[in-house]
Amino acid sequence: MPAELIDGAAIAREIRAEVAREVHRLAQRRIVPGLTVVLVGDDPASAVYVRSKGKATEEAGMRSVTIRLPATASQAELLSCVDALNADPSVHGILVQMPLPKQIDTVAIVRRVRPEKDVDGFHPVNVGKNLIGERDGFVPCTPAGVQELLVRSGVQTRGAECVIVGRSNIVGKPMMALMVQNAAGANATVTVCHSATRDLAAHTRRADILIVAAGRPRMVMGDMIRPGAVVIDVGINRIDDASAKSGYRLVGDVDFESAREVASKITPVPGGVGPMTIALLLRNTARAAEQLA
Ligand code: NAD
Repeated sequence: MPAELIDGAAIAREIRAEVAREVHRLAQRRIVPGLTVVLVGDDPASAVYVRSKGKATEEAGMRSVTIRLPATASQAELLSCVDALNADPSVHGILVQMPLPKQIDTVAIVRRVRPEKDVDGFHPVNVGKNLIGERDGFVPCTPAGVQELLVRSGVQTRGAECVIVGRSNIVGKPMMALMVQNAAGANATVTVCHSATRDLAAHTRRADILIVAAGRPRMVMGDMIRPGAVVIDVGINRIDDASAKSGYRLVGDVDFESAREVASKITPVPGGVGPMTIALLLRNTARAAEQLA
């Protein structure tokens, strides 16, 4: 029987409705959560992400501001922009859109954002809190979204073999920190695979929960999946498709067709993890406003 689909779009709508209710409660205390996105340069993909974040922020009843800096902006200009946002009481969440132009030291920018306004969860203070299991920090939106998908789909995580493919700072590592905690929606035995892993399939075949974030189109095939496993595909890759109007289509890091014959539950691409990332960004922003109040 083909796997049940985990409908990320529907779960994301549920979370956005919860956030809108929280925003309504904050409005009664005269607090309007504000998210400011800083976009440096004119990378078209970044511009699309920033527009959709802005639209979702406004739909949730929050204030959305986008600051655009030229691709030639200096490190000093960007740092002083972040300083101004850190000091502005109407700004609760600050998001500096990545990637940044090469004259900018990304690490220094990430460290400059006040941890209390770091709704991306990339500041070392928030990274540390996630690892320790302190809940008053911010967890990066994509792994937090994956955990919500598991919890809201009724997946048993306690004691499960959870295999993560990918060790990036924005997905793989924070995902590992979340799933290993002695907490609800976690408590799994976690394995992290990466580009130097010797026999990837030997690991993925052990997984009760397989989370793939490798940025390699359809790298995980059905025969690498344990029958009955839950498969979360974080990957978003464009591949050429002459039959599509745009000339391309989006695929994940998992080969959906073969995987769905083996897995018990699986996320589609698009419509799985993608919509969750924005929903969790909104939730982090509402929480930042609440905590800063
Ligand atoms: P990244 O390139 O920073 O990291 C990829 C990781 O995969 C690396 O740690 C690498 O060691 C590992 N890897 C690469 N090839 C491998 C192999 N053959 N075997 C085992 N491990 C291998 O990527 P990222 O930023 O973590 O993103 C991963 C994917 O998730 C991309 O497709 C990206 O577009 C997507 N993504 C989606 C969302 C979303 O909202 N859905 C958010 C972030 C990233």
